[in-house]
Amino acid sequence: MALTGIQIYKLLPQTNCKECGLPTCLAFAMKLAAKQVELAACPYVSEESKAKLAASAAPPIRLVTLKADGHEVKAGNEVVLFRHEKTFYHKPGLFVRLKAADPDLAAKVEAIENYTVNYVGMDFTVDGFALQADGDLAAAIETVRAASKRPLILIGEPQALESGLGALAGETPLLYAADSSNWEAMADLAAQHKCALAVRGASLDELADLTEKIKAKGVEDLVLDPGLNAEGRRVNMATWLARATQIRRLALKKNFRPLGYPLITFPAEHQDGAGEAVHAAQHIAKYAGFIVLDTFAPELLYPLLVLRENIYTDPQKPIQVQPELYEINAPSPDAPVLVTTNFSITYFAVANEVEGAGLPAWLVVTDAEGMSVLTAWAAGKFDAERIAKAVKDFKVAEKVRNRTLVIPGHVAVLSGELEEELPDWEIRVGPREAVDLPAFMKQALQTA
Ligand code: SF4
Repeated sequence: MALTGIQIYKLLPQTNCKECGLPTCLAFAMKLAAKQVELAACPYVSEESKAKLAASAAPPIRLVTLKADGHEVKAGNEVVLFRHEKTFYHKPGLFVRLKAADPDLAAKVEAIENYTVNYVGMDFTVDGFALQADGDLAAAIETVRAASKRPLILIGEPQALESGLGALAGETPLLYAADSSNWEAMADLAAQHKCALAVRGASLDELADLTEKIKAKGVEDLVLDPGLNAEGRRVNMATWLARATQIRRLALKKNFRPLGYPLITFPAEHQDGAGEAVHAAQHIAKYAGFIVLDTFAPELLYPLLVLRENIYTDPQKPIQVQPELYEINAPSPDAPVLVTTNFSITYFAVANEVEGAGLPAWLVVTDAEGMSVLTAWAAGKFDAERIAKAVKDFKVAEKVRNRTLVIPGHVAVLSGELEEELPDWEIRVGPREAVDLPAFMKQALQTA
């Protein structure tokens, strides 16, 4: 747990020598607690105090990074239980499990590697592959690496995993999994090859006991699988959620280091009838770090990727597009001019409707600090003055001949003020919903 300024002060020399650039040790302690100075600025801190201060500064949930040739998947380092308290930082990595012995391995890897989907201007992909060592793992890794450089999770017993690790020098894969029967061999393997290591157990006590023993062997990057019962089967959805929440709570609220690690999940293995997609969605919401899917299907991946993006978007920073004049379907100078805000979803709702209908248009995207139309209007970020300023700043009048400006129907109230701000323009009130724009443009504006 982070120390207070007073607690830090007690660990300092208290000589007020000023060499750190601050007048007193207390001032330095306060700055250190606020993370505004580095501990190294004081040359007189004892080794014992340094160790205590470093331990208190460590994140309550360790950041674990899987690496491979420029690709990284990070999990952990979260600081809140609930997204609305602050934000969730590291999106859970979505991995697809493939079998080393699968004769179609190369084709499957290629299909997964090439999967990409665009959502409000962002390209989403799968993050990596989980390889089940049921055959020649070294050969399977070679097959994967021929088509993809994404990080790997290797699943199997220590001997089987060791055979493949020689081919992954310089990478940081995740080994799955150490348990009470094999933890020493797995820990040795992870330490020797500098891998992250997943740990599985049938209870939180068992997990905490294992992580302490493995950490003592020098393996720091651990990942927890809390999803098994005593018989080795997957627990149901309620039990998984309870365990994941307990782990998060213990790590954040009690600073319980033995469980301060990200989680790995296997949504398809739960046998409670909910199905892979529902379990995966729950794991995205709370609190997975790495999710291993058994199904590669766009209809499964797309909603999960979008859900993940929404859960891991900072609620205080809406996703935005650049305010500017956008051209849709190569508009001529006679094409109509539409206006909206720079909230990404609003922009894409408007742009996609018009583009999909094949209608040319100019789209003035105003800087509304990333808010949607009504929210921005209510907050005073989308008013006649701002719209007029955008029209002038983007030199719209120099690019178009017609002088018709279409504002969203939700802000019809702005039309009078806007006519005063832009006296050369005819202000038209468009529909409230983007879906109605094509019909409005064809009928009211008589756009071809
Ligand atoms: S350098 Fe260290 S001992 Fe000197 S005033 Fe700063 S904190 Fe205190």
